[in-house]
Amino acid sequence: MAAGSAVPVPASHLDVARDADPATRAANAAMAATLPFGDTRDFEAARRGLIAPVPEGVVRTGSGTILWNLGEYAFIDGELAPATVNPSLWRMARLNLANGLFKVAERVYQLRGFDIANLTVLEGDSGLILIDPLTTAEVSRAALAHYYAHRPHKPVVAVIYTHSHIDHYGGVRGVIDEADVEAGKVVVIAPAGFMDAISGENVLAGLPMMRRAQFQFGSLLPRGARGQVDAGLGKGIARGTSGLIAPTQSIERPIETHTIDGIEIVFQLAPETEAPAEMHMFYPGLGVLNMAENACPLLHNFIPLRGSVARDPRIWAKYIGDALAMYVPHTEVMIGQHHWPTWGREAIADYLEAQRDLYKHIHDQTLRHMNKGWRPAEIAEGIELPPGLAERWSVRGYYGTVSHNVKAVYQRYLSWYDGNPCNLHPLPPAPAARKFVEYMGGAAAVIARAKADFAKGEFRWVAQVMKEVVYAEPDNIEARALCADALEQMGYQAESATWRNAFLYGAQELRHGVFKMPARINLSADTLAGLSSDIFFDMLAVRLDPAKAAGQGMVINWHFTDRDEKLALTLAHSTLSHRLGEWSDRAAATITTTRATLDTLILGKLEVPEALTSGALKIDGDPSRLAALFGMFDQPSAMMFDILTPGEGRL
Ligand SMILES: [Zn+2]
Repeated sequence: MAAGSAVPVPASHLDVARDADPATRAANAAMAATLPFGDTRDFEAARRGLIAPVPEGVVRTGSGTILWNLGEYAFIDGELAPATVNPSLWRMARLNLANGLFKVAERVYQLRGFDIANLTVLEGDSGLILIDPLTTAEVSRAALAHYYAHRPHKPVVAVIYTHSHIDHYGGVRGVIDEADVEAGKVVVIAPAGFMDAISGENVLAGLPMMRRAQFQFGSLLPRGARGQVDAGLGKGIARGTSGLIAPTQSIERPIETHTIDGIEIVFQLAPETEAPAEMHMFYPGLGVLNMAENACPLLHNFIPLRGSVARDPRIWAKYIGDALAMYVPHTEVMIGQHHWPTWGREAIADYLEAQRDLYKHIHDQTLRHMNKGWRPAEIAEGIELPPGLAERWSVRGYYGTVSHNVKAVYQRYLSWYDGNPCNLHPLPPAPAARKFVEYMGGAAAVIARAKADFAKGEFRWVAQVMKEVVYAEPDNIEARALCADALEQMGYQAESATWRNAFLYGAQELRHGVFKMPARINLSADTLAGLSSDIFFDMLAVRLDPAKAAGQGMVINWHFTDRDEKLALTLAHSTLSHRLGEWSDRAAATITTTRATLDTLILGKLEVPEALTSGALKIDGDPSRLAALFGMFDQPSAMMFDILTPGEGRL
């Protein structure tokens, strides 16, 4: 069967962006009527303390390539949302345009709108403490330069990563030099488990996460009232060069207090919340509480659409409650590493109580319904936020949604399986779709009925049933076009930026096919260097092609002289396993090298014969074993696999 993604869609179906249908107009107008637009406090907070906006709204590389451009959002210029944008999301899209250098409190500044996250600057006695240096070196460098253009030029003495997501550490090389870290001039501080969390979340399953993130953030959508308007946490993710400098100091105890360059910082660990490794900070001398990414003015994700291990909203609520009790009585301003601050003790307490109860409520009510036997999709449809929460802007689903967060809670406790044995062993998607469509009288009959439902505004159902036709007949242009049209209207109605982006990008791929990108290793040299050898060999193991390894067995001893590490790697049953700190006396070969050399080999920047010739790698025993092993790995695969169509080589 032909794969569908490469089929060009005739020009008559290339309505890149249709207008809002009457049902979408009605839905968006009805929602607007229920929202408290009279409450404009967030707009005042987002502007408060502005010193100077992002210069020209643009960050370029040295050669002029644009990596970040707020000018693309010039169409977001009025209070009234276009019919093609949910009115609540439009409001957030306007708020997230606030940008520049802001003074938050004495000695506390923020650079917002240089990327999706905020770079926070604490002015120490002799230098600067930078919190969360953005996604790429180019934008963090530009942000710091903007700070220096308006504030005294003091050296950076510390960098703090609040958590293990790349928008909070990837740009570190733009603001500090690793040599200064090695020389002890700059300390790099992170919560316990930071490096393991990066490996766990982004290395073993990094490729599908990157592919799915395209849907979450809408990075390949045009900007516009019929395209990407926002990403919920900010406008989007900056392009450029991401890296990592490993922390030199880890916060290990639940609460630790350190004085850094004259500023007292109380670190509150909050593991297994928004990220596996995360922490809040309280600065007692400044009256400022930093909630990292655990209390953004929206409903966050229990599982983001890009995919992750299910997060724990119960413990998340508990850590917000702890911060509320311990620090808010002494707090004047609350900041986060996305969005704008909240000023005033009462307002902060009110805000954090709502955040705490938002996460706890969704958790508790999902469990309550699970205990009555409800299934994920039923609970997702059945739970609404209670009075007192529902009418607040700060808990709305601009990023996560109640619907998909409920399903994440279900998954965390009871897994993907709803308990109904009819769902235990169904046919895979494409064979099932072919049967469904056959039973329903063929594609033409299904499309005719779906068109009638589309006219009635039943877009959710149309997308659901057209998915079956597209999976049964990936080359069916009419089915693809109708599915795209339905997803598009759902995108126009979505309050969540991530849902809007996913629906609109899905429509774009159905209409135009998958945007082809070259296959590449999805890891930076920095990330690779930061991996423990334990995770490194797990990463190799998930690339092993069992067909190529079938019937073979071997043991290889490794010695990494740069890390003073030994390990034994065993291939058996088409599976790789390893034991750190052990050497086998059954080994076919013993390899002495450095992890740095092995990293370079994996990145494809060095070949084994070269490494042998130069002496960077030595093999005792059978030299053919290493080449044989390397021959069993998958080549780096193209990230742009099919999602909306069945895809080649799958069932
Ligand atoms: Zn973030």
